[in-house]
Amino acid sequence: MDCIFCKIAKGQIPSKKVYEDDLIYAFHDIAPQAPVHILIIPKKHYSTILEIENDDKELIGHIFFIANKIAKDMGFNEKGFRIVVNCNRDGGQTVFHLHFHLLAGRMMHWPPG
Ligand code: AMP
Repeated sequence: MDCIFCKIAKGQIPSKKVYEDDLIYAFHDIAPQAPVHILIIPKKHYSTILEIENDDKELIGHIFFIANKIAKDMGFNEKGFRIVVNCNRDGGQTVFHLHFHLLAGRMMHWPPG
């Protein structure tokens, strides 16, 4: 499949890795929108979050658990951070492999643009 994030997870396209295990891969965003901007992706291909099914609940919980671990390890847990999933056109999704943005290192605004 011609998916850029599948290739990143397989090491076929270079990335700045933050974390990896059997299920997920995390790396720095190429165009950071905050001082810390990490993408956490499942290794299995899902085009959007709409493809998540009942059997995937453990995977999604694992992604949030690892997001917390990364936040704590990098020391921005106390000040705070934001986790974002964009879905389809109106959600601002541009890469169609499910990914969770982990943003930190500056004050976030609400509502987001
Ligand atoms: P989204 O708009 O939610 O689909 O987010 C896609 C994100 O992927 C954007 O923040 C891009 O900057 C990021 N991105 C695209 N290509 C790469 C790449 N090769 N390495 C790291 N991040 C990327």
